[in-house]
Amino acid sequence: MALLIKGGEIVTASSRYVADILCEGETISRIDIDISPPARGEVIDAAGKFVFPGFIDPHTHIYLPFMGTFSKDTYETGTKAALIGGTTTIFDMCCPGRSEEPMDGFQTWRAQSEGRAACDYSFHMGVTKFDESSAAQLREIVKAGIQSFKIFLAYKGALGIDDAELFQALSLAKELGVVTTAHCENETLVSELQRALLAAGRTDTAAHHDSRPPRVEAEGVHHLLTFAEMIGAAVYIVHLSCREALEEALAARLRGVNVSIETVVQYLTLDKTYAELPDFEGAKYVMSPPLRDKKHQPILWNALAQGLINTVGTDHAPFDFKTQKTMGRDDFTKIPNGIPAIEDRVNLLYTHGVLTGKIDLSTFVKIASTNAAKIFNLYPRKGTIQPGADADLVIFDPEYEGILSAKTHHMNIDYNAFEGWKIHGRPSLVTLRGEVAVRDGQFVGTPGRGQFLQRKTGTPKA
Ligand SMILES: [Zn+2]
Repeated sequence: MALLIKGGEIVTASSRYVADILCEGETISRIDIDISPPARGEVIDAAGKFVFPGFIDPHTHIYLPFMGTFSKDTYETGTKAALIGGTTTIFDMCCPGRSEEPMDGFQTWRAQSEGRAACDYSFHMGVTKFDESSAAQLREIVKAGIQSFKIFLAYKGALGIDDAELFQALSLAKELGVVTTAHCENETLVSELQRALLAAGRTDTAAHHDSRPPRVEAEGVHHLLTFAEMIGAAVYIVHLSCREALEEALAARLRGVNVSIETVVQYLTLDKTYAELPDFEGAKYVMSPPLRDKKHQPILWNALAQGLINTVGTDHAPFDFKTQKTMGRDDFTKIPNGIPAIEDRVNLLYTHGVLTGKIDLSTFVKIASTNAAKIFNLYPRKGTIQPGADADLVIFDPEYEGILSAKTHHMNIDYNAFEGWKIHGRPSLVTLRGEVAVRDGQFVGTPGRGQFLQRKTGTPKA
């Protein structure tokens, strides 16, 4: 069945104009003024609305075993919530533990998602140990369509790798044309600071920040980028949160290191006072790196507006407040890390970024869609609106006004970190490869239709 989207204002990373879009099969077949309705198909009136390319979340944890528990979303729930929020493609982190084989981990994540995801997806393949056997398996995984690794400089003993492993993983990535995404915090500093804080009687949620201050993150960034520079590997810093870490990344970029930078919407909108809320309420806001002092926010927004930070993700990792976050009630180091946001990222960026004038519409499209498609080799199939591209479209109603709440959201989690926040504008209709998946905030698509996106190797720049 064909879809004709009439009279919307098309906004891509590089252009803005009013035209009709004809989608036939799974792709966009034509863009023109005044296309006549197809013989069989639906006509969607988009007058007065924006038409954006489907948004891409470059950093999610839909399925995540972590600190002895599992994140609450499944591929069914997390990907529907993503679509409702305008996100048509996600990159989930495939994170086997150090005792697992990489191929077993990859197959676990494939099995969790296959036939269950409602939106399209790929994985960043976690390299949580490195030896000859895992290198051979990683080569096979790359052949299966993976173009990005994920490494942790944090989480000592659980997911984190040592420096020899880091060197070898980055060398393999360079050889294969794979970009390595990295969680940058110095794991030794984190564990020593945690120990010192607990010894001093600090068990509260605010201590989480103090165990991982900005310099600890900046040290991780500096460390990673020294290795990337020696090896000539392309790297991507996930969830960068603060000025100190940004300065290290930009200094390396000036030295010629091929580094892309992601921040997440939580750092742009929430600050560390949320994690300091009394009665353990702060636990809802515990993630790593932690929410920072508010003074970092204008720096991150400016860096986005100036193209210095490339993407905005969520690090979506939903843990229920009542039954899971509570594991850390007497010890902040035991609070499962994560602030769910997969459904709200695009709307928050629009309300708090575009409408406040911090970023313009084309920057909005770049940081929430196009740049991730480019860095992770999905462009121009994803990330833009042009003939031949997948018909992943977000018809966005700028007049909508609503309120974010756990009572109405679709994520499988018992709280919303933005409870009661107003949003202005939201997707009124979302298509995934030519099928209408969302109308007026409700999922109407085909469950399980999401596709595993095979990606070629090579590390282009955004
Ligand atoms: Zn993450």
